[in-house]
Amino acid sequence: MILVLAGGVGAARFIEGLVQVVPPESITAVVNTGDDMELHGLKISPDLDIVTCTLADLIDRQQGWGIIGDTDACMSWLVKLGGPGWFKLGDRDLALHIRRTAMLRAGATLSEVVESFRQSLGVAVKIMPMSDDPVPTYILTDLGEMHFEEYFVRRHAQDAVRGVRYVGIETARPAPGLLELIAAAETILIAPSNPVVSIGPILAIPGVRAAIVASPAPVITVSPIIGGAPLKGPAAPLMRAMGLEVSAVGVARAYAGLLDGIVIDQVDVALAAQIESLGMRVAVTDTIMRGPVEKANLAWVALQLAEARPAAV
Ligand code: GDP
Ligand code: CA
Repeated sequence: MILVLAGGVGAARFIEGLVQVVPPESITAVVNTGDDMELHGLKISPDLDIVTCTLADLIDRQQGWGIIGDTDACMSWLVKLGGPGWFKLGDRDLALHIRRTAMLRAGATLSEVVESFRQSLGVAVKIMPMSDDPVPTYILTDLGEMHFEEYFVRRHAQDAVRGVRYVGIETARPAPGLLELIAAAETILIAPSNPVVSIGPILAIPGVRAAIVASPAPVITVSPIIGGAPLKGPAAPLMRAMGLEVSAVGVARAYAGLLDGIVIDQVDVALAAQIESLGMRVAVTDTIMRGPVEKANLAWVALQLAEARPAAV
């Protein structure tokens, strides 16, 4: 079984490559819930919905999020009635949030909701949240602390980042079965996701990092940073705030002590020796997932790197 630590868009695209090279049933995605929030009285889980809807082939690929062909009738009325309009939610999208909220209110866990959505939408890859307990990510700025989505979507990541806090992390429990899955995994892949706000929260759940270290499975990541910048999103200011260089080297350092190998982009080939000196294997390829061919290649390279024998010492 292949375990994938996943954020949203970068992870969903990477898993689309994996399902081309291994049976989808052999993959479990553990998804970040640090972006989760409540709006309009509804429970919203952006990364879980991105991963589920991408693998169901329902995602708006232009945006990377939202459901293809979705309409905004409900949103326009929510705004007309004085509701917040900064976080766009399509009509079909809202159905996910309404159903999730209703199930949680009726006593279901988030894991159960995710499993139910997965089955309803016909996704073969197993999907689980990192935790059933809420662990919202807050960004510390000069304006004060704000929820990650408020920093990123409402304020367009314009505020200087002073720190990042995973609120409630001390008492959050790994999702049921997660530690067992980590122990039993043949391969652990860390998706090309934001190291600070997508993968950081998963690794910070008490017990998760230790379980990964203890697992015999090779741990491989793909750098989301290409040529010193992320393809999209706020990874640069967030990595800098955590004292990490915005480069494939910084990604390798973010996962210090965990990684057996990292896949970096061909434009970063000059960084390979420096990363190898950190004690991990490096594979170099085209890591930009333009279409199915690049996605499958990237997945294949990551799995090959996992299987490669550690360098003799
Ligand atoms: P989010 O939660 O939707 O922001 O998604 P993630 O955290 O999973 O992914 C965001 C990261 O994915 C960004 O840092 C991007 O640089 C990275 N990313 C997106 N597409 C690609 C791609 O095609 N190749 C690589 N290597 N990284 C990508
Ligand atoms: Ca996210």
